[in-house]
Parts: sequence; structure tokens; C-alpha cells
Amino acid sequence: MSVDPVPNTPYDVAIVGLGPTGATLANLCGMWGLRTVVFERSTAPYPQPRACHLDAEIARVFQHLGFEDELRGLLTVSAGMEYVDAAGDSLFSFEGFEREPILGWHEDYVFVQPEVDAMLRRGLEQYAHVEVRLGVDAPELDELRSTARFVVACDGATSPVREQLGIGLTDLGYDERWLVVDVMLHDPTVPSLPRIIQQVCDRRRLATFVPSHDRHRRWEFRLADDELVPDVWRLLAGWGVTASNAELVRAASYRFHALEADRWRDGDVLLAGDAAHQMPPFMGQGLCSGVRDAANLAWKLAEVIHDGAAATLLDTFETERRPHVAAVTALSIEAGRLLTRLAIDPTATPEPDRPDPTRWSRLPGLDLGGPFPVGHQLPQPDRLDESLPDGWVWVATDDTFVSPDHRPVVVEPRATYGCHAVLVRPDRYIAAVA
Ligand SMILES: Cc1cc2nc3c(=O)[nH]c(=O)nc-3n(C[C@H](O)[C@H](O)[C@H](O)COP(=O)(O)OP(=O)(O)OC[C@H]3O[C@@H](n4cnc5c(N)ncnc54)[C@H](O)[C@@H]3O)c2cc1C
Repeated sequence: MSVDPVPNTPYDVAIVGLGPTGATLANLCGMWGLRTVVFERSTAPYPQPRACHLDAEIARVFQHLGFEDELRGLLTVSAGMEYVDAAGDSLFSFEGFEREPILGWHEDYVFVQPEVDAMLRRGLEQYAHVEVRLGVDAPELDELRSTARFVVACDGATSPVREQLGIGLTDLGYDERWLVVDVMLHDPTVPSLPRIIQQVCDRRRLATFVPSHDRHRRWEFRLADDELVPDVWRLLAGWGVTASNAELVRAASYRFHALEADRWRDGDVLLAGDAAHQMPPFMGQGLCSGVRDAANLAWKLAEVIHDGAAATLLDTFETERRPHVAAVTALSIEAGRLLTRLAIDPTATPEPDRPDPTRWSRLPGLDLGGPFPVGHQLPQPDRLDESLPDGWVWVATDDTFVSPDHRPVVVEPRATYGCHAVLVRPDRYIAAVA
């Protein structure tokens, strides 16, 4: 059997970028006891919100990191998403939002990104073995490689690390220009705005409205490629938002893309988050995908570094995560195109072959013909995670189950989807059933 050589480096992991992906990964590396160094060129979290939606799986990762109490004050449960016509009448609702919170959290939340970014950065202060270097550009790749056993590029859409590795991006065929407008209402009840996320299928101007957390409200307006940025207050006037009831936080035009890096691992360097994949924001899944990447990767790095697992374990990061990213990217593209289709024909429906609208990950790498629920997340009734150890664990419905290695944690059958016992990975995915 070949054994991976273990280089003698000052750190186990070097992370480039402290956006939401890098900050989640750094916290997880801290939790798993990895000697970690993080390079971030800014000195403070990016002050303006980008992501404003996250889902149950992301909240659960943050819970695992000990942020539950703080997080509850930063999230508002989302009331759902609908497509409306130019008059505001509902045409189509997206399913999923009403699902039972089986992972221990509601299916969808809205939030203000700089507040969550700041929470993640504060969390790092508890780990003496995680060193954060703010206000510096990461060294060149050769130097990074001699600094740490593994380098993880969480350096965003323009990823200098990806560039240095010469890893190409595949364009999935979505490229539109949108104006992103964020306001803080002086009073969250004035003016009276929809409580549900709206995709406005108005052929004069496609738009997205997000009733975000607390006083934050978000609009995205479709721009023509050659159009000058219009007067923002004029765009908002139709919603009753004026300079007398709201503060304009930002108005900036973005190109919404769908891109995938051609490979996510090059030896001891891995790409995660926007460095590995980008998608249009219509399903609010870009940040969520980066956090899922971090949760999938961190425990594998720990097993390779601490427990002598073969470095080939890290290949499963891409084989497990890429299909889910591809599915949510396809769903996000479809959600964007549906705006145009419904604006032209309000009776149009989503493509019949559109992907399964679930945003939960199902790990195909584990889908080796194994029975349900292998590859699914463990349900979390009654804050179950609080009584689980951090690593691998057998969870069983009674104490007659004799596990090969660990004493099982005894739970009620809904926590195991009715199975007698399930083997749970450190990232709370089910690896086997008995
Ligand atoms: C308008 C809009 C709305 C969105 N809405 C949602 C949503 O509702 N839900 C959702 O899940 N996602 C959403 N997204 C996507 C989400 O914002 C991104 O997917 C997410 O921010 C990516 O996080 P990241 O950490 O991978 O990258 P980034 O947030 O881009 O972080 C990369 C970090 O790396 C640093 N860096 C780069 N190069 C270097 C270097 N050489 N040295 C040191 N530091 C470096 C940068 O300074 C930056 O801090 C939205 C995006 C946009 C634009």
C-alpha cells in the first residue's frame, strides 16, 4: 500500500480568502484542531450585502460551530418565493419553503451578510492554532505550498490561485447584467411591502424583490447590456420606497454568471466556493454552496492530516460536491430564465425536465447502490446534534444495536428515517445503514 509522504510544514492548512467560504472553513479547521493560516487582503468583512438567503443545512453547519444563539438573532424565516406578473398577481410559487424543518432549522432564511461574516470572523478568535493575516495578499503558490501541507483557495470568483494553476472555467451559458439595490428602511413596516420573495415578470423591467432580515430590503433589476444605470429612486418609487423612508446602502451593476472550474483539486491545492463555481443568485445558493464545500472538505483534511487517511480521500470532495453544485446551478439558471418566459407568456410553466428542486445535497459518491437514506443528511429532531460527538457516530433506535467501534447514540426512529441504525459522518451525512 502506498503511503502519502508527510511534508514538514509550519501549518496543516493555508486558506486564501476570508469570505464566507474561507471563514467557515477556517472555523471548521479550528474545530478539528488543524494548524491553519488564513490570508485575506481586506481588513474587514465586505461591508455591503451580497448573499441574503441561506438554507437549513447552512444554519446547521453554523450551529455545529457553536453559533446557534448568535445566529438566531441574525436570521428571519423566509416566507417563500413566487413569480408575479407586472400587476403583482401571483403566477407560480416555488415549492420547498413550506417543508418541515427536519434538519433542525427552517428550510429558508434571510439575513444581512456582513453580520454573518462578522460572526464567523469573531468565531476564529477562540482558536489559538488558527492564525488570520488580514490586509495582506496571499503569497505566490510555491510559497504557500511550502507553508502548509494543503492550500485551499477560497479566493472568490477571480481566484488568483485558480489562475496560477491554469485551471479553466466552463461557461454554462448564463450571462446577464443586473442592477443590485440594497436599502435599509427607517421603519421595517413602512412602506408596506410583500413578505414573500418576488420574481417580477414585467416585460418592461424584470426584477427580483427580497424582503430581507430586519430593515434590509433587496431589489435586483435586469439591465440591457448597453444601458446606463438608471435613476435608482425612480425604480424604487413604484414600490413606495423613497429617500424619506429608506437609506440607500448600495446600487451596483453585476454580471450574473454560471461558471464551473474544470477541476477542483491539483495535488495539495483545492478550490472551494466561488473559486470553484459561480451561479446566478435566483435561488440564493452561491454562498450556501461555498459553506457546503467547507463542511464537506474540513473533516476530510483532518482525517488525512491527523489520522493518516490517504490523500485520495480529498478526491471525494469534488466527486461528492460537483453534482450538487451542477444541480443547483441548473435550477438557478432555470429560475432566471423563467422570469423572461413568464413575462412573455404568463401561462408558461417551468421546463418539464427541469432539475429536482431540492436544494439539499444528496451525495452521489455515497450512492453506491446503497439503500435509502445513505447519502442524505441525518435529521435533527430536538437539537439532536447537541448530544452527538464531533466525529463519526452510530445512531440507533435502541441500545440492542452493537456497533463495530463506537457506542451508538440512542434516538427516536424519525432521526434515522426509521432505520434501526445509521452511521453518521463528521459532516452529519449518513454513510451506512444497519
Ligand atoms: C447580488 C448577489 C446576490 C447573491 N445572493 C445570494 C444569496 O442570497 N444566497 C447565497 O447563498 N449566495 C448569494 N450570492 C452569492 C454569494 O455572495 C457568493 O457565492 C459568496 O459570497 C462566495 O463566497 P466566497 O467566500 O467563496 O467568495 P468571496 O465572498 O468572493 O470571498 C473571497 C475572499 O478572498 C479574498 N481574496 C481574493 N484573492 C485574495 C488574495 N490573493 N489574497 C488574499 N485574499 C484574497 C477577497 O478579498 C475575499 O474576501 C449572491 C451574489 C450576488 C453578487
